[in-house]
Amino acid sequence: MPLEEYKEKRDFEKTPEPAGSEGEAGGIFVVQEHQATHLHWDFRFELGGVLKSCAVPKGIPEEKKTKRLAVEVEDHPLEYATFRGVIPKGEYGAGSVKIWDTGQCRILERDHDRYVLELKGKRMIGRYALVRFKGKEQKAKNWLIMKL
Ligand code: MN
Repeated sequence: MPLEEYKEKRDFEKTPEPAGSEGEAGGIFVVQEHQATHLHWDFRFELGGVLKSCAVPKGIPEEKKTKRLAVEVEDHPLEYATFRGVIPKGEYGAGSVKIWDTGQCRILERDHDRYVLELKGKRMIGRYALVRFKGKEQKAKNWLIMKL
């Protein structure tokens, strides 16, 4: 169940976030600026009926050759792509969520350790890669995001 972890973490009586469902949106992505305990940017793209998601603490790279850490988080429902608002204090991810960019996403390459995406947003335009980060700790959830 792809959205199980997402649903487990949230109380939909308290958060304005969508409970959501799996579906098909025709290849979309979104970046949400999330002022939680620590400011970060959540990059999400459609794959397999959900939004694959990662948190980028230092911001989305806007220039080639800049690599930024992107920490994989739980899949989000497609409806999340239009979510903006305030997650109340005490709830998971409490803080404000703004849409930083959104648009179309085409997956050009995909394997266990690497994605190449063609994005058509307002700020993210062109090819971006997500590459699994092989640092000392070998944390499987750590990726690098870069503009190609
Ligand atoms: Mn977040």
